[in-house]
Amino acid sequence: MPDDIQNTLYKAALAVMANAYAPYSRFTVGSALVAEDGSLHAGCNVETVHYKGICAEASAISALVSAGRRLIRDIAVVGPDERLCSPCGDCRQRIREFADARTRVHVFARSGTLLRSYTMDELLPDSFGPDNLGKAG
Ligand SMILES: [Zn+2]
Repeated sequence: MPDDIQNTLYKAALAVMANAYAPYSRFTVGSALVAEDGSLHAGCNVETVHYKGICAEASAISALVSAGRRLIRDIAVVGPDERLCSPCGDCRQRIREFADARTRVHVFARSGTLLRSYTMDELLPDSFGPDNLGKAG
């Protein structure tokens, strides 16, 4: 059973998914995250004709950073159907950049079923992160 934060993130991700620009794949995705200060940020996927689009998670992270925030407490992803739409490899590394050991990643089906929740270490084990270069994550 999703908790309040998960429900809030699911609703925000589903709402922003309606704005996804996916004329080529028709694979719409929404993502929403809550920062350490409780602020909510969301993004959808944005495709381009040269196939260098932006994933929903990357969009949400851009909104986070643009708002001057740096730490993801929880992040949700909602795919276009009932299948698991887990973050791609590139997004796993992007999330890692703004995550800590408490960060959780939740993947919902479009209907709202919580399919999986991951810790950052489950999603990207033995990751290369900011600490590898002497920076706080
Ligand atoms: Zn991605």
